[in-house]
Amino acid sequence: MIIYNKKFISQFILMGTVISLELFEDKPDAVEAVYHYLQKAEKEFSANDNCSELMRINRSAGKQPVTVNSNLFSVIKQAVEFSKEYRTSFNIALGPLVKLWRIGFADQRVPLQSEIKSALQLIDIDSVELDESRHQVYLMNYGMELDLGAIAKGYFADQIIVLLKYFGINNGIINLGGNTVTFGVNQVVSSHLWKVGIQSPWQYRGTMVGEVQCRACSAVTSGIGERNFQYKGRLYHHIIDPQTGYPLENDLAQVTIFSSSSLYGEVLSTVALFSGIDNGLLLINQIPNVSGVFISKTGRIRTTSGINFKAIA
Ligand code: AMP
Ligand code: MG
Repeated sequence: MIIYNKKFISQFILMGTVISLELFEDKPDAVEAVYHYLQKAEKEFSANDNCSELMRINRSAGKQPVTVNSNLFSVIKQAVEFSKEYRTSFNIALGPLVKLWRIGFADQRVPLQSEIKSALQLIDIDSVELDESRHQVYLMNYGMELDLGAIAKGYFADQIIVLLKYFGINNGIINLGGNTVTFGVNQVVSSHLWKVGIQSPWQYRGTMVGEVQCRACSAVTSGIGERNFQYKGRLYHHIIDPQTGYPLENDLAQVTIFSSSSLYGEVLSTVALFSGIDNGLLLINQIPNVSGVFISKTGRIRTTSGINFKAIA
């Protein structure tokens, strides 16, 4: 068995976050390809860039169907199916509400009740029409907007692994800020297992509350501490409840989902967060080959069964 003692770490800033790749071999062309892939993907999937492919769909809402490339179509198709399955939590037609709150941007604010009421009329996932044969997406009502913020990074992470493998890189760890994916085996330790840190939901503390040892897997975290603001003593965060139009309120602060697909992990981390700690654990325990670490608002940590989690005191 060979134990490598070298890691090659690359970091760059894209999509408003630090992207890092830790590989066991020096392959600058592969790192360059990942950078270019992400730059291009961001331009297609962003709801904040008026020139993106996604915004082309949004601008044509209530007017006409838009033909998009097969990657974007496939992600939207999967996301629409998940939004129909998990109607009361995960919804990619939430764009009008996300744009009202603008959480994480300089102009974030608490919208008027009347604005929220109007936006709630425009988030019906059944009004998203897909034409598989033409790769067309049609938002049936004027003012509707898709937002892939909850799922895009998971899709990108899955694609980056495919890209790295194409370059002959079969082991490593990538981090897209909130999405960590380990692939192959950890060549610097004899157990060959990976360690994924679970960060405190309140990131300004910058502390790890625990770590999970795992084989190749994706770890996706959704939480209310990531992007938020305080107004009149209340915390408003970036995960919006499609039933109320306001940020989700329950006993959970953060959920990390371990799964093989990062895209699926994205969906489940949102859905589990909405479920609350008890129902969330029940839900994730029922799904084969998926596990999770849940942190309540009071700081209590609970995990699904069969996960190798160690708390850091
Ligand atoms: P994440 O960081 O993966 O938890 O995704 C959060 C982002 O997803 C937000 O910034 C919004 O763009 C979007 N979003 C917010 N609430 C929801 C929701 N209930 N369903 C789907 N997407 C959402
Ligand atoms: Mg997500």
